[in-house]
Amino acid sequence: MVAPAVECFDVVVIGGGPGGSTAGTYLALDGKKALILEREHFPRFHIGESLLPYGNDILQETGAWEKVEKSGFMPKFGAEFCTGNNTRFHRFWFERGLGEHYAQTFQVERSRFDHVLLKHAAETGCEVREGCIVTEAQMDDEGVTIFYQDGITRHEVRARWLVDATGRDTFIGRQMNLPRKPTLLAKRIATYAHFKNVFRNEGRAGGHITVARVPDGWFWFIPLDEERTSVGYVQSLNALKRTGLKPEESFEKIIREYSDLKSRLAGSTRVGDFHVTSDYSYRFEGFAMPRCLMVGDAAGFVDPIFSSGVLMALKSARQAAQLISKADMANRPLTNREQSRYTREVCRMMDIYINMITAFYDDTSFEVFMSPASMLRIHHAVLAIIGGNTDLPFHLWWRMQAFYAFCILQKWVKFSPIVEYAEPPAGPLAGK
Ligand SMILES: Cc1cc2nc3c(=O)[nH]c(=O)nc-3n(C[C@H](O)[C@H](O)[C@H](O)COP(=O)(O)OP(=O)(O)OC[C@H]3O[C@@H](n4cnc5c(N)ncnc54)[C@H](O)[C@@H]3O)c2cc1C
Repeated sequence: MVAPAVECFDVVVIGGGPGGSTAGTYLALDGKKALILEREHFPRFHIGESLLPYGNDILQETGAWEKVEKSGFMPKFGAEFCTGNNTRFHRFWFERGLGEHYAQTFQVERSRFDHVLLKHAAETGCEVREGCIVTEAQMDDEGVTIFYQDGITRHEVRARWLVDATGRDTFIGRQMNLPRKPTLLAKRIATYAHFKNVFRNEGRAGGHITVARVPDGWFWFIPLDEERTSVGYVQSLNALKRTGLKPEESFEKIIREYSDLKSRLAGSTRVGDFHVTSDYSYRFEGFAMPRCLMVGDAAGFVDPIFSSGVLMALKSARQAAQLISKADMANRPLTNREQSRYTREVCRMMDIYINMITAFYDDTSFEVFMSPASMLRIHHAVLAIIGGNTDLPFHLWWRMQAFYAFCILQKWVKFSPIVEYAEPPAGPLAGK
């Protein structure tokens, strides 16, 4: 019996999340025969619901923006940060500093958002196969052979290029046992669920993400639609272990103990189960090989405070697609230089967020964050990063350096007011 001919593609993309769909779309728009293999059947639940406006450019370039705009997601015009004890509050508006073009993005229910992007990839010419789990990738000088399972049937496909967009599954990193680079971020655990009837801001601030800092972590409140809000608690894994509580017990305990959190959730009901993700910060030492690029979480993931995950997936996907298109046109694999430039560039973007995340978790730096010096317009630089600008022009870059200098000085000289995290003691005199 003659063995069936192996199907051939220019590119195989593993994973149909934002990174995979975007890489596939760019490559299909460039005329490549691209196959996206996705393990799940969409729509499927995923965390990562708050977008950044600098990601809009990429959605516009790929032509997905109009479809996202028409999907009825919650408009997001900014972000706000507060303390769980209700003593500090700072609100950012994207339009005040980022300009009209980046004034708005969306809070998205990821099951629907990812589906919009995956369908868009198919509409631009990608072949999309859902319910297909990739089990093995064999790379050689000319390309890659991929094996995937569709139910009980094993398939084999061949391509000149591979994009690993498998998210936190990190397919290639795990299969090849690639070395990881320390991110210097503590091990943390996120516990989250969707709730109904959570407190909402009035007007255009109704779509803001709220980040509420508590002594050992922070909560997010992401309004998803008229009714539902995504609420999550991030804390250090060690602190949780010390309490001896289950993640959801710890979530509920902190809500009861902190006045701001308690009032936001008063009268709310949880819809759906709690989800838990732990120890989520990692990155590989290299994200590129002669015939393969890793994008989005498959390359690395830092911490969700600044909602940078989807943005990083979109940006790395665009870069990966551009590199593949260029090398493919010259009929050659990626050079060593291209591979290391790709890793450097994605790391550079991640480092911008790692520095901000480190400042956020540091108590004195957080004091500066909550009142960045308006005299030097430092808040414009902070806002640019909160909006997702990873290519700061000089006038913002030096302000960012000034911000970090203030964070160091704040340890000795209190330029910014001290932030108290503990709840004031309750009692007959409280509040008088
Ligand atoms: C607690 C938490 C909160 C977060 N909050 C935010 C936020 O507010 N905003 C934000 O931007 N980001 C946030 N993120 C990050 C965000 O979830 C990710 O950065 C983003 O989803 C990365 O997209 P991706 O396309 O790289 O991977 P994913 O979206 O994870 O997509 C990967 C896809 O690959 C598929 N796959 C995996 N293995 C295989 C296989 N072997 N074969 C076939 N398919 C496979 C999976 O089914 C999946 O659909 C958060 C993350 C965490 C942990």
